[in-house]
Amino acid sequence: MNIITRFAPSPTGDLHLGHILAAKVARDLARSSPDGIFLLRHEDIDGGRVKEECYHRIEKDLVWLGLGWDGNALRQSSRLDAYGEALQQIRDLELAYPCFCTRKEIQTETERILGAPHGDAAPLYPGTCRNLDKLETAARIAAGEPHSWRFDSAKAANFHGELTFSDLSFGTSRVDILANGDVVLARKDIGTSYHLAVVVDDDFQQVTHVTRGEDLLGATHVQRQLQAILGYREPTYLHHGLVRDEKGIRLAKRDAARSIESLRESGHSAAEILEMAEESVS
Ligand code: GLU
Repeated sequence: MNIITRFAPSPTGDLHLGHILAAKVARDLARSSPDGIFLLRHEDIDGGRVKEECYHRIEKDLVWLGLGWDGNALRQSSRLDAYGEALQQIRDLELAYPCFCTRKEIQTETERILGAPHGDAAPLYPGTCRNLDKLETAARIAAGEPHSWRFDSAKAANFHGELTFSDLSFGTSRVDILANGDVVLARKDIGTSYHLAVVVDDDFQQVTHVTRGEDLLGATHVQRQLQAILGYREPTYLHHGLVRDEKGIRLAKRDAARSIESLRESGHSAAEILEMAEESVS
């Protein structure tokens, strides 16, 4: 099989060693097949957080590190129509519902159900808007009340039946609809969401192997559901370890000292940086 992989950063900050590991894993897997293709996709749907100069800085770092991609980089911001069509397809199947809740309301309702504050872990959506009266919902939408669209994951499960996904390091897992619950498919502000856009584009770009950090392993459950509902092919997954600092904390955009730019400026070669990325995985 001809392997197609992608590296999908968000142009909201500079690349750090964690990104470089992700890009290298995707590149190496594509290059392991004779006609493999390694793609670059800018995940830039969240316009409020995108920094224009970051597209260029990301591409410059990748080229300098020898992690050049094939073809033109795709920008998700140019694909909003495609995400809208996919949402419509899910709505036509009545597997999405409008949600009028604010963050605060969701938090209060979750605490009421659980009987205590839930700490830092993002709780599942408590389902407040799942079974609202259809006429009332239509009236609220007509009146212009802001709303997102949520995935009805349990109803979707009845539709697609049992699902699994297979990962080159973790083996085969059964899809658990409670791993994510009723995720947002279309945010109030941007009309789409990470989960929807990723699934639509992986299919559009014919990605055969989705490689990414193991922090996104949980997201795969709902993404497999969306693929099944939308009639997309099932990719193979490879969730890799994360790059951590000396204290074992995962690198984030705020770790400017570890940005590729600053490592380059302090005299590290491309080969050294690639090695550092691989050595800091756990
Ligand atoms: N944009 C995601 C990230 O920065 C990767 C996309 C994905 O593989 O789901 O981790």
